[in-house]
Amino acid sequence: MMKVRKRIVTSVMILAAAVFVSGMFLAGRNGGFTDAAAYIACMIDGEETVESPKKIALTFDDGPHPYYTEQLLDGLKERGAKASFFVMGKQAEAYPEIVLRMQEEGHLIGNHTYSHLQLGKGNRETFKSELIRTNELLLQITGEEPQYVRPPYGSWDKSFESELTMIPVLWTIDPMDWCSSDVSGIVQKVAKKAKENGVILMHDEYKSSVTAALEIVDILQKEGYEFVTVDEILFD
Ligand SMILES: [Zn+2]
Repeated sequence: MMKVRKRIVTSVMILAAAVFVSGMFLAGRNGGFTDAAAYIACMIDGEETVESPKKIALTFDDGPHPYYTEQLLDGLKERGAKASFFVMGKQAEAYPEIVLRMQEEGHLIGNHTYSHLQLGKGNRETFKSELIRTNELLLQITGEEPQYVRPPYGSWDKSFESELTMIPVLWTIDPMDWCSSDVSGIVQKVAKKAKENGVILMHDEYKSSVTAALEIVDILQKEGYEFVTVDEILFD
């Protein structure tokens, strides 16, 4: 019984393929032959003809800033680039409309504590409560609970990952943009170190950082990079 059914299914498939292929050749008589032949050749070959772009992530900490973050969002939108923003709770509380705009424009929003607290030996519980407070705030603003955290100065305790169900995001390229207003210096540092699946650390509270970040997007897009949110790199 199964064999008969299998044979019927196979015959139907062969028939469908024949109808499809003859349709393509008929289309060819009307001038579409080359396209149809190329299509069939491509199907048989099974190789992708378009090279997929190299992914890279821009991440911004310490915002949102009432002026520079909006400038950055404008520039990213013009360029079709996505970024990840690790916001401070107190800044998000002051500028919720900017956080909402980040979400609407497809950027990732992560937690950077409420007051930029560095995790140390004696402040584990305070640090944890700042993360929770910021998560609650961001949930109120965006309707989504953040899953990603960038711990200030990179100080982290692995047990928070299960306690809070959060994923820490560090970086691979740090141009130290916060301590320099030299735009071309920042751009050069990043351009030199750029690699597929790189994570760039920057700060959206400085004019020079925003100008540099947009120049970085222009340069690296020309080199075939696609700017994606950091989750696309972590889970690829
Ligand atoms: Zn920071």
